[in-house]
Amino acid sequence: MSTNGTPTVADWFQDKSWAYSITFDEALADLHRFAIPILQAAGVPGHVEVVVGQLGQVRAIGDSSYNGFRHMNATELRALLAMGWGVANHSWSHDRVNATTAPLELERAKAVLEKAIGAPVSVYCSPCNNTNMNPEALAACRRLGYLAAMSCTDALNRPGDADLLWLNRTFLLTQSYEPFFSEFDPWRNIRHAQHDRGWIIDYCHCPLERAVHLNKDCSAAELRRRIEVVCTEGGDEVWLARVEDAVDYRYTRRAAIITATGPNEFAVSAPGLPAAVRRRALTLRLPAGTAGATVDGADVPLRTGREGATIEIDAGRSRTLRLRGR
Ligand SMILES: [Zn+2]
Repeated sequence: MSTNGTPTVADWFQDKSWAYSITFDEALADLHRFAIPILQAAGVPGHVEVVVGQLGQVRAIGDSSYNGFRHMNATELRALLAMGWGVANHSWSHDRVNATTAPLELERAKAVLEKAIGAPVSVYCSPCNNTNMNPEALAACRRLGYLAAMSCTDALNRPGDADLLWLNRTFLLTQSYEPFFSEFDPWRNIRHAQHDRGWIIDYCHCPLERAVHLNKDCSAAELRRRIEVVCTEGGDEVWLARVEDAVDYRYTRRAAIITATGPNEFAVSAPGLPAAVRRRALTLRLPAGTAGATVDGADVPLRTGREGATIEIDAGRSRTLRLRGR
């Protein structure tokens, strides 16, 4: 029996309907006090943004609210990677990033951080505000092989967005800045993400008993509430994703080509991916009536969801997919 139709690529891994990530700018050692245990208990991977020029040092940056706190060192960052967290470059100095400073802020910082953590760094996180998301900074990111850049724009990311060198982040603050001074909202953007199949990337610094600065952080209790709400609202429908994994999925999904090569037989590939894309897994939605599937001759398990069956396929090289009908 034949199936009817061509597989399609799901918006998100495992055909989840929305995605959630959370980031902690400055990568402070005090994340061990509340944030890391809260996320570990809930199975949510976190992401830290490292000021590479002050790796392991007590922070001393202008009049930063976090001066006096210690930045994590290489050993602590490696431990986070081993727990499934991600690590990004938050610049060398937390100062200006432009064509003149890119060799230090983006190039040297990336190399030093990669050596320190023993892993590639593919994400840049703009320090201060969006002035460091200027065209010169982003052109340098592109040239240096970054796959994504994170801003301070409070908006959703969507599966079809063309440019990953501008990722939006949702603020997780006790109170936002003027003129609205928005209060903390543990449901912020979740209904929006469920409706638009979006990807929320939360932004905060280092939640403690109280926010270190009302407009820059939330408290540990507020973080705990946010994570509870994400997990209860999300259930099986949310992909709790490391930033790098969601970025890789989006590159692979965009590059994917599925070509019919015979009855119920398809070539699946993702040519032209940047070398920095590490995880090349795709989730394919299979046509109605599919009862079984093989990839390069080996059986693969079908996952049956609300919207039909799916499979995971590694599109790192061209694969032959064969489907069996009922
Ligand atoms: Zn910062």
